[in-house]
Amino acid sequence: MQNEVILTQRKTGINWTTTSFMVIFHIGAIAALFNFSGRAFLLTFLLWIVSGGLGIGMGFHRLLTHRGYKVPKAVEYFLTLCGTLALEGGQIDWVVTHRIHHAFTEKDGDPHTPRHGVWWSHMGWILTGTAQQWNEKIMRKYAPDLMKDKFHLLINRFYWIPLTVLGISLFFIGGWPMLLWPIFFRVVFGLHMTWLVNSATHLWGTRRFETTDDSTNLWWVALVTFGEGWHNNHHAHPVAARHGIKWYEVDFNWYGITLLKWLGLATAIKTISQTDIEEAEASKLNRTLAKAA
Ligand SMILES: [Zn+2]
Ligand SMILES: [Zn+2]
Repeated sequence: MQNEVILTQRKTGINWTTTSFMVIFHIGAIAALFNFSGRAFLLTFLLWIVSGGLGIGMGFHRLLTHRGYKVPKAVEYFLTLCGTLALEGGQIDWVVTHRIHHAFTEKDGDPHTPRHGVWWSHMGWILTGTAQQWNEKIMRKYAPDLMKDKFHLLINRFYWIPLTVLGISLFFIGGWPMLLWPIFFRVVFGLHMTWLVNSATHLWGTRRFETTDDSTNLWWVALVTFGEGWHNNHHAHPVAARHGIKWYEVDFNWYGITLLKWLGLATAIKTISQTDIEEAEASKLNRTLAKAA
């Protein structure tokens, strides 16, 4: 199984379908700069929060991949649909990729470790690997929960439809700026911000927890990913729904989950215990003192 993962991730040529869409979307994003509209920009910002925060951070990552909290099925499906608008593939494929990332972090099976190259970790694995296309055997092994759910199977296959319908509708409502900004520019911007979690927060930043991988906490990645940049905290305690541990570690996805809790919609929320945090900080202090001595 391990070899299978390595081979399918690293030994393929250019993935022409994905690469073509990436080129088209990047051209669209650049074209947006020449077609500015305040209304379109505002909608871009709102849809970025919906797709990147509610969809990818709160939905695909903290709920579907790690099950850091529980919500009613209707809320889970709603967050999933928000996530499809980010055009990061079907949610089951995303979850499988990310669970494999946690299972093999910085090792050969890791789909996107910077140890295989910085460009590879950011975008190369999408363009010249097989990206998130897994065979059914691997999908059943890494996402047995989602593979049993008919809604998830359906959306995983047709994940591109909500964005396509939204794009066509916006074009008819507001013309080119409404297509180029909230769809093309936002998708490209959101993709690069997500990819920074795979590249930057395995390269630069600080480490609270002494994990066996290279994961780091990086405030500016956290700001542009709604809190996903507290990646060392996350790798040390993957199931915890709260990634920003201290008050100054801004974590909008956690604030969203807290809001769901207040509304009575989020339960069984997992967090890192105070003891674990204190132990990590004490051992970090000891390491620093040992180095200085
Ligand atoms: Zn990671
Ligand atoms: Zn994770």
